[in-house]
Amino acid sequence: MTKYDVVIGLEVHAQLTTRTKMFCGCPTSFGAAPNTQTCPVCQGMPGTLPVLNRRAVEYGTRTALAFECRINPGCRFARKHYYYPDMPKNFQISQYEEPLAEDGALDVDLLGGETRRIGIQRLHLEEDVGKLVHEGTLETAQASLVDYNRAGVPLLEIVGRPDLRSTPVLSTVTYPETFAVIFPTGGGSSTSNDSFTFEGYAKITTPAGTSGC
Ligand SMILES: [Zn+2]
Repeated sequence: MTKYDVVIGLEVHAQLTTRTKMFCGCPTSFGAAPNTQTCPVCQGMPGTLPVLNRRAVEYGTRTALAFECRINPGCRFARKHYYYPDMPKNFQISQYEEPLAEDGALDVDLLGGETRRIGIQRLHLEEDVGKLVHEGTLETAQASLVDYNRAGVPLLEIVGRPDLRSTPVLSTVTYPETFAVIFPTGGGSSTSNDSFTFEGYAKITTPAGTSGC
């Protein structure tokens, strides 16, 4: 029987604490009545022109420096197309080939005094999408309503390298905790804020280990 290692790369999406959205002047405050913080730009109406939020770029750059990333001299936004039930324009403005920053790292302290260095592959800016509100549960809802208050809120996506290993498995636990401490230094979300948005997606592979039993 072959033993398997667990190799994990984490992708983290975090909301930036700008007062206005990524490409328009709509406010980003949390808890407002549905569809009171939206406009033709963040709904992607034809003929509208998005204008980049300078403060989002500043916060993204500061966060990238906190993660020891290389700030690219130029970066580019692109349309990421697919069907979004919560975004009528059916694309998200994001960065793909030319991200804001690349090649950083995060040092994670483990129990026992060991420090594990986790690579950051890339860091880029993008906008959030709207939110679906279902009548009752998703399975039984007769209707679903859309709230566009969140559409266009600035997000920072940080793609970690697959440096989290099963041994010691603790690195997988402490990485997000360390991340949450470093991130606000660049202008990201605060854990004391009710509107805190900080999501992680794990990419897990299980290559065969070298030791069998
Ligand atoms: Zn707007």
